Amino acid sequence: MAKTQTPHIAILPSPGMGHLIPLVEFAKRIVHQHNFTVTFVIPTGDSPTKAQKSALDSLSSSIDYVFLPPVDLSDLPREAKIETVISSTVARSLSFLRDTLKSLVAKEKLVGLVVDLFGTDAFDVAREFNLLPYIFFPSTAMALSLFLHLQKLDTMVSCEYRELPEVRIPGCIPINGKELLDPVQDRKNDAYKWVFHHAKRYRLAEGIMVNSFVDLEGGALKALQEKEPGKPPVYPVGPLVNVDPSNKADASDCMKWLDDQPHGSVLYVSFGSGGTLSSDQLNELAMGLEMSEQRFLWVVRSPNDKVANATFFSAESQKEPFDFLPKGFLQRTKGRGLVVPSWAPQSQVLSHGSTGGFLTHCGWNSILESIVFGVPLIAWPLYAEQKMNAAMLTEDIRVALRPKLNENGLIYRDEITKTVKGLMEGEEGKGVRNRMKDLKEAAAKALSENGSSSKALSEVATKWRNQTQTPV
Ligand code: UDP
Repeated sequence: MAKTQTPHIAILPSPGMGHLIPLVEFAKRIVHQHNFTVTFVIPTGDSPTKAQKSALDSLSSSIDYVFLPPVDLSDLPREAKIETVISSTVARSLSFLRDTLKSLVAKEKLVGLVVDLFGTDAFDVAREFNLLPYIFFPSTAMALSLFLHLQKLDTMVSCEYRELPEVRIPGCIPINGKELLDPVQDRKNDAYKWVFHHAKRYRLAEGIMVNSFVDLEGGALKALQEKEPGKPPVYPVGPLVNVDPSNKADASDCMKWLDDQPHGSVLYVSFGSGGTLSSDQLNELAMGLEMSEQRFLWVVRSPNDKVANATFFSAESQKEPFDFLPKGFLQRTKGRGLVVPSWAPQSQVLSHGSTGGFLTHCGWNSILESIVFGVPLIAWPLYAEQKMNAAMLTEDIRVALRPKLNENGLIYRDEITKTVKGLMEGEEGKGVRNRMKDLKEAAAKALSENGSSSKALSEVATKWRNQTQTPV
């Protein structure tokens, strides 16, 4: 069979919807604007989820996908952190990846392999096929700057980072050590070892694309682009977000409800694909929303008192979430509030004129989606790098309000009410809203034909296009 001459890219997303979704957007861009074809090669620890399938099934015929056979993770300790589970899933899928690349090379003009933040173990397999390995970093330039700085930090600092009142990440505002990303909070944990392992290997990439843009993170990007021996070039290509969700059927209920609400009046409340609250916190949030007397659309998951990312791999609640709401809450807020279980068509919600604010767990995709649609934020970080994101949003670019935790680590109902009212109708909210509008315009400009992010992606596409495939 003759090989196709269209350049082809293999993409390896590590487990988690927050990793798959931006890579899907990246794939759409490289296909539609640069005429590539793409195959997603997806490592799994379990069978594919509904959310994964629906994100992939709606794609054009130029984007194919293959789920690799599930790997055995039964030897991992039950308390293993998500970074350990994700990285182990990728590391144990390498022989399956090799088989898939072999068959792809036989029929396609395969020119590159793109992995995300936890996929660096696939680099060696890419090199076996003479493929240039690239990273698509689905988070902030700030987090990427920390990854590239981690080796230095690890040598300089002997205590836990959480004991430091201030950590200086190149190009960024100072961050309290406790707000650094979760897996670096305990240096003895395997999750830290994995992150450190990947961070070291970032330097082996041919290039790193980051889902951010110059007007959003100018300082961090400047630091990342400073030349240094052994540092790969960094390309800000964002914000790549899903702006055209095709899953309209699922959407109808909450979208119909939004159609009936006044312009800019609804606070959308969601904690991403993986976020869960404790029972007490869920109760406080419900009461705070009720007392705020604002309209809201809340994606509710059943609570989890042990971890804040209980649905990371499934995006689905284990139990009926409405059973955990305060007694009478649904009746008392009827008409003014709509509660949906587990999942909502988020980008459609954010693009709807009735949505006037977003209480978010600060997952980077959620933030970028909010920027693209100009929706101001309430920052409620839970896990991963979300506290760093929240710090940046509130202290640096100032497009979010952040409610305070009390001494028990909970955000109480009064604080929630105050913050929600502050965003939706207060003076503070006005400033945040205006700055978000400016950022929305800057994002559109970055992605326009001659915008900074489009140019950066073209540069990578040109490198791939000029790559001749050497026989293996
Ligand atoms: N998402 C969605 N509906 C939901 C929850 C999440 O469509 O009810 C999408 C959201 O639009 C975003 C992604 O899932 O694209 C979540 O990514 P993010 O980085 O915000 O958070 P994570 O889930 O990785 O913590």
